[in-house]
Parts: sequence; C-alpha cells; structure tokens
Amino acid sequence: MSIVFEAAGRSLLGPLALNCAAPDEGNMHLLHLVATPAQQERYLRPLAAGAIRSCFAMTEPAPGAGSDPSLLMTRAEVRGDRWVINGRKWFISGADGAAFAICMARTDDRFDGKRGATMFLVDAGVPGFQVIRRIGGLDHMAPGGHCEVTFEDCAVAEDAVLGAVGEGFRYAQVRLAPARLTHCMRWLGVAQRALDIAADYVGRRSSFGKLLAEHQAIQWMVADSAIEIHAARLMIWHAAWMLDMGQQARQETSIAKTFVAETVNRVIDRAVQMCGSLGVSDRLPLADFYREARAFRIYDGASEVHRMTIARRILRGAPNDSVTRPMAGE
Ligand SMILES: Cc1cc2nc3c(=O)[nH]c(=O)nc-3n(C[C@H](O)[C@H](O)[C@H](O)COP(=O)(O)OP(=O)(O)OC[C@H]3O[C@@H](n4cnc5c(N)ncnc54)[C@H](O)[C@@H]3O)c2cc1C
Repeated sequence: MSIVFEAAGRSLLGPLALNCAAPDEGNMHLLHLVATPAQQERYLRPLAAGAIRSCFAMTEPAPGAGSDPSLLMTRAEVRGDRWVINGRKWFISGADGAAFAICMARTDDRFDGKRGATMFLVDAGVPGFQVIRRIGGLDHMAPGGHCEVTFEDCAVAEDAVLGAVGEGFRYAQVRLAPARLTHCMRWLGVAQRALDIAADYVGRRSSFGKLLAEHQAIQWMVADSAIEIHAARLMIWHAAWMLDMGQQARQETSIAKTFVAETVNRVIDRAVQMCGSLGVSDRLPLADFYREARAFRIYDGASEVHRMTIARRILRGAPNDSVTRPMAGE
C-alpha cells in the first residue's frame, strides 16, 4: 500500500482515480473491520466499487470537538426503536454529494472522552441531516468540499449503529492510525514529485554564468529535501510494518504523521523557491501542491497535538513500542 499510495499521490487526482483517497479510503477500512455483513453489503460494497462517496463527521465548531475529541457535543438518544441525533459538525470532507456519513455522537451521560460515544451510519436525504454549506479555503481539490452539516432530530434505525454502542472512540482509533498513515503515503508522492519538478527546472535554467543546479544554495535545498523525503518514507514503511504485525503503532504513526506533514510542506516550499516565478504560477502544479498540502499539518491531529501525545507517552515511561523503548545496553 505504501508504494502504490505514494505513486498515486504524485498526482492530486491519482488517489481519487484509484479510489484510495480520503475520506473514503479510511471509511472503507473502518467498515471492513467493524460493520455487520448487512452494513458491508449496503455501504462498503458500493464504496469499494467507486459507485458512491462517503464522509466522516467528527469535528464540531467551538465549544465542540476539535483537537480535543472529549469535547464532543453531538448527542444521540434512544426514542422508541430509533436513535435520534442532534448536533452540528464542520470541515466534513466530501459531505456535499456523499451517499452517507459516519457520524460520531455521544450516547452515554457517563461520557468520559474515551467511552460513551457511538458511530452512526446516516444516509444522505434522511430527514434532519443536512449539508448547510461548503466552507471555502486554501485547498479546492476535495470532491464534495469541506462542509458544515447539521443533525436536527435526525432519526435512524438501530441497525444504523456502526459496531457497538459506546465504542466510537475505540473505532476512531481503528480508523485513524492507518488513515493518517495512508495520508502520509499519498502526500509523500506529492513531495517527491515537487522535488522532481524543481530538480528538472534547476538543471535547465542558468543564472550568473552557470546552471542553477551548480549553485551550492540550490544543491543544499535539493539535498535537504531528498534527505527528509527518505526519512519520511522509512518512517511510513516502519509504522506500516508495525501495523501489519498487528501492533497499534500509535507512537510510530504519530511520529510519522508529524514528520511527514511538516516535511511535505517544507519540500513543496523549497521546490516553489527553486522554480522562482514559475513556482508560484499555474504553469506548474507546485502552487496547487502548496495550497492543498497546508491543511495536512492540521487535520488527522495537528502537529502540536501529536507532539503532546508523543511526549506524554515517553514521559510516562510506558510505551511498548520500538521507537521509544531503549535498545538493550543503552
Ligand atoms: C482540510 C480539512 C479537512 C478536514 N476534514 C475533516 C473531516 O472529514 N471530518 C472531520 O471530522 N474533521 C475534518 N477536519 C477537521 C480537523 O480534524 C480539525 O481541524 C482538527 O481536528 C483540529 O481541530 P480544530 O480545527 O477545531 O482546531 P482547534 O482544536 O481549535 O486547535 C487550533 C490549533 O490549536 C493548536 N492546538 C490544539 N491543541 C493543542 C495542544 N494540546 N497543544 C498545543 N497546541 C494545540 C493546534 O495548532 C491547532 O491547529 C478537517 C480539517 C481540515 C482543515
């Protein structure tokens, strides 16, 4: 997956063409692991076939859930044989035109930010579920935009519960660790292509009597980007290998996500710089890369939040993983 997703990511349209783009790819993974056979038939099969799109509705405007999921305000309660959902979500990628949403809501008054939340499969068109608007922003490639959506007395049947009641946060982890890694894989393809484009430009353009590629300041930018891309790729592969081994790899995926998101943005920025005015023009794809990649430092956990959790795991001295555990003899 790492290799194929990176190759797909070289074009901003590649993951969409191969049906491995966010948020559908993460939702497919979640449905594959958690959904009942009937839910898989109804939602996963057409999603995997590329016949429909989906969205994942977690984030809320303040004072609701953002970086801190324990602030979740959207509620679902049982009324008769239905669950009734009430709440407001925003920045929900792909919501406009999605056939269904996976909505996270609190379902238990003893909600503690770890237990008491539940995921619901909500079909587009169900009364009370509405896409209010697309929120404009830096990026513009996501099909269905990033939307504000509301759930107002939105009633769904019992079989709309995804997995078990109260286990929403556990499933969010099931979805998030691999999903943030597949984001890294795709974005790494963009970074590699940005470097390739810049290397091509500086190999053909001259200034002050020699090719740009012969100036040391350019060589250092090329080298720094190559070094960081290589490190990013190995971090992704290592975390992916740990997931394959059946480990949760929370520390490794957090470290990879933070490093890759920042690397991708640095590499694109250097590529823009090396290509001069063409770099910021629409004659090259770099300006699009620049616009599209910025948000990756914010979604799937902002860099600051990942740094907080990475440090906490180390400082509490308990992580059972290879990155933070000292090697024998240390
Ligand atoms: C393009 C895009 C697509 C998205 N798609 C989806 C989607 O499909 N579904 C969905 O549910 N959500 C989605 N989101 C929302 C995303 O998950 C949130 O933006 C993210 O969780 C951060 O929440 P927030 O925006 O409310 O920021 P806030 O929680 O308000 O945080 C603001 C900033 O504060 C800083 N910060 C926060 N906590 C700490 C801390 N502990 N220490 C230090 N600094 C901190 C960080 O720099 C952070 O960026 C998307 C966002 C974007 C930008």
